[in-house]
Amino acid sequence: MKSNLFKKTKYFIIDMDGTFYLSGNIIEGSEEFIEKVRSTGRDFRFFTNNSSNDVQVCRDKLANMGFPVEEDMIIVSSHVAAAYLNKNYSGKKVYLLGNERLTRDMRKAGINLVDEDPDIVLLGFDTTLTYEKIRRAANYIAGGAEYIATHPDVNCPMADGFMPDTGSMIEMFAASTGKRPIVLGKPMRPTVDYITDILKCDKDEIAFVGDRLATDIAIGMNYNIPCALVFSGVTTPEMYEASDIKADVAVENLKALADYL
Ligand SMILES: [Mg+2]
Repeated sequence: MKSNLFKKTKYFIIDMDGTFYLSGNIIEGSEEFIEKVRSTGRDFRFFTNNSSNDVQVCRDKLANMGFPVEEDMIIVSSHVAAAYLNKNYSGKKVYLLGNERLTRDMRKAGINLVDEDPDIVLLGFDTTLTYEKIRRAANYIAGGAEYIATHPDVNCPMADGFMPDTGSMIEMFAASTGKRPIVLGKPMRPTVDYITDILKCDKDEIAFVGDRLATDIAIGMNYNIPCALVFSGVTTPEMYEASDIKADVAVENLKALADYL
């Protein structure tokens, strides 16, 4: 054992893209890490900020790579958003920027979705965004609606490049309206609260693992939760060296992290 870092850890909260898999393939050694997690009496959950996906999309992706998991093993930032809305804005009218999957998840969670006269604008990763939706949302935000975003990621990596993500839309609406949202997902506090609520554990009994400094690692650093950076995704050792965001441990990949358990 290399350190006591994960002494209290009951659940590893593992990022998916760039951490567990990359471009449709499980990163070599990821499964060994999961075995080590289990053999040391711990458990894990996957957490993704990508609110354009629902649990089923994530499960299908994993199953296609030969790693089937149960529904409750996957948490999406949209779950945090739905819980946050139900807790703080129960019954309020919500104008959602989201694709059909996110819309379905919000309806299932009992969120009151409307097209006109909303109390709240919820900005998700809307892969079906249109100019009409942008126009409506901007006017509602400027007009004083509460404004919430599911996560802050600026770009979403794709096999053949990237797609502008919710964080980029936040900048567009900021330019247009002068307003910025309450942001959820990683690295924000409501995400820690949501995870510890559903897992019925304390925040020092979880640990974050991921490849992106501004989300996967910042959430650990900000709230004093053990966090591990893997260099198998978007962050290179050079980028890490230059960053103020520091993990408790930085390793090549999940396989290397298994040595710390
Ligand atoms: Mg990632």
